[in-house]
Amino acid sequence: MSTPARPANRHHKRPRGEGQWALGYREPLNKNEENKKADDGLNVRQRIIDIYSKGGFDSIDPADLRGRMRWYGLYTQRKPGIDGGKTAILEPEELDDRYFMLRVRIDGGQLDLKQLRVIADISNDYARGTADITDRQNIQLHWIEIESVPDIWNRLEAVGLSTTEACGDTPRVVMGCPLAGIDAAEVIDGTAQIADITSRYVGDKAFSNLPRKFKSAVSGCSAHCTVHEINDIAFVGVTHEGEQGFDVWVGGGLSTNPMFAKRLGAFVRPEQVHEVWAGVCGIFRDYGYRRLRHRARIKFLINDWGAEKFREILETEYLGYRLADGPAPEEPRGGRRDHVGVFPQKDGNFYVGFAPRVGRVDGDTLHRIADIAERHGSGRVRTTVEQKMVILDVAPDQVDSIVAELEAVDLRVNPSTFRRQTMACTGIEYCKLAIVETKATAVKLIDELETRLPGFTEPLTINVNGCPNSCARIQVADIGLKGQLVVNDKGEQVEGFQVHLGGSIGVNPNFGRKVRGLKATAEELPGYVERVVRNFDKQKNEGETFSE
Ligand code: SF4
Repeated sequence: MSTPARPANRHHKRPRGEGQWALGYREPLNKNEENKKADDGLNVRQRIIDIYSKGGFDSIDPADLRGRMRWYGLYTQRKPGIDGGKTAILEPEELDDRYFMLRVRIDGGQLDLKQLRVIADISNDYARGTADITDRQNIQLHWIEIESVPDIWNRLEAVGLSTTEACGDTPRVVMGCPLAGIDAAEVIDGTAQIADITSRYVGDKAFSNLPRKFKSAVSGCSAHCTVHEINDIAFVGVTHEGEQGFDVWVGGGLSTNPMFAKRLGAFVRPEQVHEVWAGVCGIFRDYGYRRLRHRARIKFLINDWGAEKFREILETEYLGYRLADGPAPEEPRGGRRDHVGVFPQKDGNFYVGFAPRVGRVDGDTLHRIADIAERHGSGRVRTTVEQKMVILDVAPDQVDSIVAELEAVDLRVNPSTFRRQTMACTGIEYCKLAIVETKATAVKLIDELETRLPGFTEPLTINVNGCPNSCARIQVADIGLKGQLVVNDKGEQVEGFQVHLGGSIGVNPNFGRKVRGLKATAEELPGYVERVVRNFDKQKNEGETFSE
């Protein structure tokens, strides 16, 4: 592990009381900070191997169970049968099942077939066949028993995969364009920079106690597919005076106080990316707010400081050198950002992006995908940030056959808009924070809309969330659906959604408007969305998109 950047001085005036380490607040100001101070989250690994996997669920220390296990991608899943009305009322232990969700981090979304098959085998052997592709390119498994975790880690680590810092107050998966290195239109391939960051800093105790999670993206994608606007740190490919490098953005995030990231206006050369990443993460560690969990993301710090002061502190206290000024990224190329469909690579081969429904696959399907890829001469697959997948390196004479085989197993290469652009978070099936069901609701919505609106082909994002958090990015969807209990026409409290309309990212980023009084029960959702779409179709001006 390399030595992290350290601040040179600590004299900045900040309002007191936010719990920043750099201002001397080393005494924990809340329970989460106490737990992190008592023992580093990374230390739980050895206890899982030596004690918990042998002693079983009941041997797990509660502070590890609901805290440090996350440092290795493990969350207790929700006990089945507890309705969403009880989520905020019950104690955490009443919501805990004796099984875990396990998140496998897939940095850059990059997998070879061996890795894909290992995840498929783990899904079938230990996770009741479950597997969900997340909107941060990870794969989540459910029904994991603590006894099986050491074997799962052995299998993953044997093929270069890991669950280290997949959750927790840590540097999470580093997102990257699934087409990095193969897309003729890309500005720069960020693969080496992602590897630089993960190999140096993931699992490094210098960065394992952050105020909260830290989400990263590195991409030179000309379609801006890694949603740099809503990451804690993002490096976006640019060309500056004939040189390829990155424009750095800091402090994007959604949830209850959504903010778009700010540009620091600095040009970062490829070899500087890891240092700048460590500097920004170091600022977050040292100056980030630790008193209140809901203010502990880096977006609050940069919102208070402004980009100019943030850059000044980065350069003077952490890097020790000035960064060159640089240009903003070019506008994203037109069309959708999701890489679904068949498109040429720069080497003459093709990539084939396909759409499972809302990222839900299973162990057998992952095996099938590996087999189909292999039969058609490909050794590489990718996960996307839209809960989709891409197979790379398909020779021209294999394209028709691979498309037919994927479509035959319902992995659509030419999906409807609804299949292609609907995402859903985990929801009440497994998530302890959820108020409503999401995955099955979204699948039903897709199927219904395909029947009701068969000719609809315009881009339209529909993001379904099970609670006010924004794991499925509701505020930047054309139609964002935030799960809550609503009252139906019989006066009963049932699962439903608050509707947000007109969110977007890209050239004119915009948070969707929460439309007063616009709530739909889960039952009436297909009819509701159909009416919204038909009204838009009727009233839109030439060339107008939904978010406009
Ligand atoms: Fe759970 Fe809420 Fe996130 Fe959905 S949005 S996965 S319900 S925390």
